[in-house]
Amino acid sequence: MKKEEEIKMLKAFADANATSGFEEEFVKLFTETVKNYADIKIDGMLNVYAAKKQNKAHRPIIQLDAHSDAVGFITQAVRPNGLIKFVPLGGWVKYNIPALRVKIRNRDGEYIPGVVATKPPHFMTESERNNVPDVADMSIDVGSSSREETINDYKIDTGCPIFVDVKCEYNDKTGLFFGKDFDDRFGAAAMADVLQELKDEQTNFNIVAALSSQEEVGLRGAYVTAREVKPDLAIVLESCPADDTFTPDWLSQTGLKRGPMLRDMDTSFLPNPKFQQYACDVADKNHIPYTRSVRTGGGQDGAAIYYENGAPTIVIGIPVRYEHSPYCFSAYHDFKAAVDLAVAIIRDMTEEKLAGFSNF
Ligand SMILES: [Zn+2]
Repeated sequence: MKKEEEIKMLKAFADANATSGFEEEFVKLFTETVKNYADIKIDGMLNVYAAKKQNKAHRPIIQLDAHSDAVGFITQAVRPNGLIKFVPLGGWVKYNIPALRVKIRNRDGEYIPGVVATKPPHFMTESERNNVPDVADMSIDVGSSSREETINDYKIDTGCPIFVDVKCEYNDKTGLFFGKDFDDRFGAAAMADVLQELKDEQTNFNIVAALSSQEEVGLRGAYVTAREVKPDLAIVLESCPADDTFTPDWLSQTGLKRGPMLRDMDTSFLPNPKFQQYACDVADKNHIPYTRSVRTGGGQDGAAIYYENGAPTIVIGIPVRYEHSPYCFSAYHDFKAAVDLAVAIIRDMTEEKLAGFSNF
């Protein structure tokens, strides 16, 4: 894909309103983007299976994975004063939530702007000034003054999805994107780009790009996609948290403009060691920068693919600063390097090499 097209795609993907269980807007956008290179199937959970057009029967399968959902919220109930009590979808920390601009999709499918309400400092006690309330005590205000108004006029009640309302910007001078939901829209964009890159090519393997739903609430979609695709090899394209602004150099393992991160460990995943080393070798051979990381927090779809299928799996991560917050930075350079690495692996892979990953 040309750089301008990639930037346009990345911005559109990041701006899509899609949180766990409410992925439809992004599913539509992704499907539109890849339909010329892949045959599309969508299941009832909104997992998307994009099978490369040149796939043939009886060939081994490489599953690419990215997830469509991003962290968001869901309305729980409307308070007597019209403010809305809400529940997080995915891993938020409470101090990133107050004063956040959001939009709620109401019963009529309209997007209603709102804000996570905060008491003005004029009214705060000393202890309120120095403490963030629990999420259960926070509310979203859409400007209503009563429960009836919120329910009858704003058409907001229990079970409406709430999205972070931030528009993505790209700065050509710095090569940086600034916006929301890069996790995992940049992984999904990388997956679309890989399909586009290989569109007229006959690869040694069938390629199925699976866009999984509900990752942020427990990798739920990827359990289903792995069962359905039955891959022989899997590459997870994940946007992963950068640590380069708060970790000493010697310990920093994921940073802007240092290339994608190959995950050596997280809380639920260890890659196939031979496949991992092979990916590093392919990157070296092609002069693609990368880092390796051992994490004591976090997880991703690779764990679900392993659990269901056991295929050799690696994670190619695109670094994102301030992941799971409303404002993130990510670099075009890292996105491109992640695409290049995935494409190089697919082009280089043979059945013999694949067999070697499980041969001890
Ligand atoms: Zn993610």
